Amino acid sequence: MGKTTGFMEFDRKIETYAPVKERIKNYKEFTIPLKENELKDQGARCMDCGIPFCHSGCPLGNLIPDFNDAVYQGKWEKATKILHSTNNFPEFTGRLCPAPCEEACVLGINEDPVSIENIEKNIVETAFKNGWIKPELPIKRTGKKVAVVGSGPAGLAAAQQLNRAGHSVTVLERDEKIGGLLRYGIPDFKMEKHIIDRRLEVMKKEGIVFKTSVHVGIDVTADELQKEFDSIVLCGGATVRRSLPIPGSDLKGVVQAMDFLPQNNRKVDGIPYAGEELSAKGKKVIVIGGGDTGSDCIGTSIRHGAVSVTNFEIMPKSTTTRPEGQPWPFWPMRLRTSSSHKEGAERVFSISTKKFVGDEKGNLKGLVTSEVYWEKKQGQRPALKEVEGTEKEWECDLALLALGFTGSETTIADQLGLKMDARTNINASTKDYKTNIPGVFVAGDQRRGQSLIVWAISEGREAAHHVDNFLMGKSNLPLKGDGDLPRV
Ligand SMILES: Cc1cc2nc3c(=O)[nH]c(=O)nc-3n(C[C@H](O)[C@H](O)[C@H](O)COP(=O)(O)OP(=O)(O)OC[C@H]3O[C@@H](n4cnc5c(N)ncnc54)[C@H](O)[C@@H]3O)c2cc1C
Ligand code: SF4
Repeated sequence: MGKTTGFMEFDRKIETYAPVKERIKNYKEFTIPLKENELKDQGARCMDCGIPFCHSGCPLGNLIPDFNDAVYQGKWEKATKILHSTNNFPEFTGRLCPAPCEEACVLGINEDPVSIENIEKNIVETAFKNGWIKPELPIKRTGKKVAVVGSGPAGLAAAQQLNRAGHSVTVLERDEKIGGLLRYGIPDFKMEKHIIDRRLEVMKKEGIVFKTSVHVGIDVTADELQKEFDSIVLCGGATVRRSLPIPGSDLKGVVQAMDFLPQNNRKVDGIPYAGEELSAKGKKVIVIGGGDTGSDCIGTSIRHGAVSVTNFEIMPKSTTTRPEGQPWPFWPMRLRTSSSHKEGAERVFSISTKKFVGDEKGNLKGLVTSEVYWEKKQGQRPALKEVEGTEKEWECDLALLALGFTGSETTIADQLGLKMDARTNINASTKDYKTNIPGVFVAGDQRRGQSLIVWAISEGREAAHHVDNFLMGKSNLPLKGDGDLPRV
């Protein structure tokens, strides 16, 4: 283990942020990393628990106490191997994961948990700096061809694993660049895009073929794909946005977050975008929706130069500590405050938007809300109720709808005759990720619905094992929980 008395000697420390007034001048990442000796102290805090609940908290089953110990001992290359044995892309999760492992950390019962995510990020960054991340080519090719549709974290993880098993993998992506929501959803200030490009260079050298601007179902039919490839892995994400069908939602100035954020990422990257420029400069912005997407809209609007940014959340304000009934080691629904929230947004909870108000030219000039509460009755789902007499009009000339996603698009599913589940995701179980059509698999948000990067990577890896098994009758690709430490 780390240091026997480490958890008593050292307090939790995590990376800090550049001051708000500096960081909002651009779209660059603004974290200030811990120093090497500080990271070793954090590794020393790990107790190497008999039952490491961090493992089960992590959707990838990361071997956390083992890499914590390696970092404590200064064995960074060993830590790199341990980390990569369960996670293809720790540079994504180390920056963007909400870290369910930390919520499950045993130390978190009565102390602050181990800084697992920061340790993870520093392991992979040290590895890239030292040239330890090298292409891993298969010893032998199997002659089997696999198409991966979609290049988000699920597609990339599936592609890398299947390539390592010796199959010839082609990733088909309809956007002009690879990365899915990592590239076009998540703003650069959370993850600069050269972080994706750096990993793609390694993957290209491994032999994976990437084809961009290919919309499967339109530029190439699912039928054509089935003829050319021995197996297809669908990783197209859950891209159907939830709308807000209230009066005035067609006014100019009511904008979907997933029009606003991808356009901004394209602007930052110098990629042309379709349609009118969506800018928050000089505007009173209201972001409707309190999740990750809402938070990214806040940070982006502030960087555009919005006059004010207000964030509406329909749920009540939670506590910063674990709410009652959500004990350790479960993921608690507590109040989370992102770096973007701290950049100057006003947050309003238990609020619902009833209508948008426009001027005579059809421009948004305000919106009307009510306070709400959730009525709970025995045996029934909680119902949203308005608090009478709480109607309020807000000035607003840009409303960003960050209301989540309702499922995945159906073009490919229709062409292939795939069964969907009740939430319009493609139906497949985690037992084998198989759809109802032989040879066609599905992973990531397109199977589980809008989720997290760590889950997408996990599903991509797991699905790869089952695809390999389908193609070869057996598979040596690891499954979560195989738990063998790599030989280092
Ligand atoms: C704004 C925003 C911020 C987020 N922030 C975080 C965060 O901080 N941390 C976190 O863990 N999660 C975050 N998430 C969630 C996370 O990004 C997703 O859960 C994850 O990216 C899902 O990965 P995926 O590979 O399943 O799909 P996606 O990343 O959605 O990738 C799907 C890809 O498939 C392509 N595609 C779809 N259909 C076709 C087709 N027919 N032909 C070709 N290509 C196709 C799409 O263009 C896309 O590139 C965020 C989501 C959003 C929207
Ligand atoms: S639960 Fe926390 S303290 Fe225990 S092994 Fe995992 S990281 Fe270390």
